[in-house]
Amino acid sequence: MSNEKKTLVIASGNQHKIQEISQIFPEYNVISQREMGFNGDVEETGATFLENAIIKAQTVCNSLNMPILADDSGLCVNALGGEPGVFSARYAGEHGNDAKNREHLLKNLQGIEDRSAYFECAMALVIPNHPPVTVSGRTYGKILEAECGAGGFGYDPIFFSDDLQKSFGEATSQEKNGVSHRFRALMQLKELLNEVL
Ligand code: IMP
Repeated sequence: MSNEKKTLVIASGNQHKIQEISQIFPEYNVISQREMGFNGDVEETGATFLENAIIKAQTVCNSLNMPILADDSGLCVNALGGEPGVFSARYAGEHGNDAKNREHLLKNLQGIEDRSAYFECAMALVIPNHPPVTVSGRTYGKILEAECGAGGFGYDPIFFSDDLQKSFGEATSQEKNGVSHRFRALMQLKELLNEVL
């Protein structure tokens, strides 16, 4: 048997997600769609995390003709009716500006007592000529009044994890990766990935 790691291609350009998936599954060589030669921009037009994950994985799979995993995720705040939800990456208007997104959320929650929230991660695995396999995971917590810690990415510094009793910004990557929405979704794909890759 070869010692070479099998490659897992992620339909994302978000290096933070790719790094976390790689830390959760060190047995794979986890790479982005771009490293595999896909340079297109996939528009996330779905109304749910699951729809967007399928759109991303299917588009990249059609182009590269190999198994592709997509992660669509975000933060849902109960007092805001589930916002920012699928708009998490562009909540303050500019795609991927994490600092502005956090600031915008803190502003929208000013004076609101119920700070309960959860991260959700939907994943779609698309294998050529097969219907998508989908899973999802959640992790629960509260939105802090101010940033705490500088680790992680996105909303991590303002998300106080119920499991860890500290913010994801203060947590080590091992701590976050043991309870995260991404970890909980990925665990459900472990066996299937082992079979198809
Ligand atoms: P996507 O690329 O459309 O799935 O957007 C994901 C967005 O949700 C990111 O840009 C972050 O703002 C947020 N997000 C998703 N997962 C996490 C996480 O693990 N920590 C912090 N923010 C996250």
